[in-house]
Amino acid sequence: MSAIDDLTGELARLPGIGRKTALRLAFHLLKAPSDDAQRLARAIVAVRERVRPCEVCGNLTETSPCAICTSTRRDQTLVCVVEEASDIMAIERTGEYRGMYHVLGGRLSPLDGIGPSELNVEPLMRRLGIGEVQEVVLATNPSVEGEATAMYLRKLIGPLGVRVTRIARGLPVGGDLEYADGVTIAEALSGRREM
Ligand SMILES: [Zn+2]
Repeated sequence: MSAIDDLTGELARLPGIGRKTALRLAFHLLKAPSDDAQRLARAIVAVRERVRPCEVCGNLTETSPCAICTSTRRDQTLVCVVEEASDIMAIERTGEYRGMYHVLGGRLSPLDGIGPSELNVEPLMRRLGIGEVQEVVLATNPSVEGEATAMYLRKLIGPLGVRVTRIARGLPVGGDLEYADGVTIAEALSGRREM
């Protein structure tokens, strides 16, 4: 296999990149100054070496616990539960949320064999068991699986006496939090309702 085939094949495995785009990117990298390609290669290696999940919330970070978990200016009694660490970035961009987070690492999807034990549910329950958290905002995506995950967590958390809320609808159904605009996310958070 040639080096170009090799690179094209790797790029085509990335989400949202088809065979044609992969080929275009590969040729772009060949024509670009050598430094540009080196920088990209180094950035890919560095991100894999330095970034890891926060031991408390699962956020992606270079220092664990992450900057959000160690911040003294954030509301420790409020925890927002999201599917992926990228959702934290989307919510943080709004600048409207001052609580903590918990990353599930996905959503319940029985057809794909993803049950509660495949997600970071147990660490969430341990966190809530300490007793400092007063409200959990369920911010899983507004998809069928995201709603089912929220319902499951509500049943699990309810008996602990912690307030459970769900982000408001208004986010496109079936859409990803990650791709929603800041205003929509901020409105969904401020309009959260009891579950
Ligand atoms: Zn953290």
